[in-house]
Amino acid sequence: MTVLRIMLGPLRGRGERRAPGFGSRSPGRDNVIVAMDYRSTSDVCGPDDEDNPPRSILRTLHHLSRRIRVEQDVREPLSEPTIVSEVGYLLGGVEWCSHQPWVAAIVDDIRELHAQCRRLAGDQPGRPIGRCPTLLPTGECRMPLYVPSVGDSIICHNPRCGRTWRRPEWERLALLLTTRATPTHVRRAA
Ligand SMILES: [Zn+2]
Repeated sequence: MTVLRIMLGPLRGRGERRAPGFGSRSPGRDNVIVAMDYRSTSDVCGPDDEDNPPRSILRTLHHLSRRIRVEQDVREPLSEPTIVSEVGYLLGGVEWCSHQPWVAAIVDDIRELHAQCRRLAGDQPGRPIGRCPTLLPTGECRMPLYVPSVGDSIICHNPRCGRTWRRPEWERLALLLTTRATPTHVRRAA
């Protein structure tokens, strides 16, 4: 589960004097506030706007579930959308969506929203140790492998691979991939 922290830090106590020149800066994390507001749109209106503003989480989920409802000819519920209701609807439609020709567009949107939530929650994957060298019927897997933030195993996220690497294995693999990469760097530098 991802937890988004709205405040930059604990609020100052009442009556505490501000340092001279302390501006009226928001004590909140504006990007998180924007992402959690249904009214937020990702339109860029003026020169001061961010090029890639965060998208409203609920609005994006609602937009996706509405697209699927239209395709399935299902009426929009009368109750207000919530993250729980929209995620529930999307989860219930996974199997049906996987047979539709436009499934890749939905997957891209969900992946982008998931990446945004991870960024805002400070849950960034570390540097990849390399790409998965497992041989599949279609060739080498090549999915980036990241050192896990918890636990000792790395699971390859390629659905066609899914290989689990235990710590001694992935440490050897990281070493091997670094050594394998060296001649290329040497050639490039020469
Ligand atoms: Zn793999």
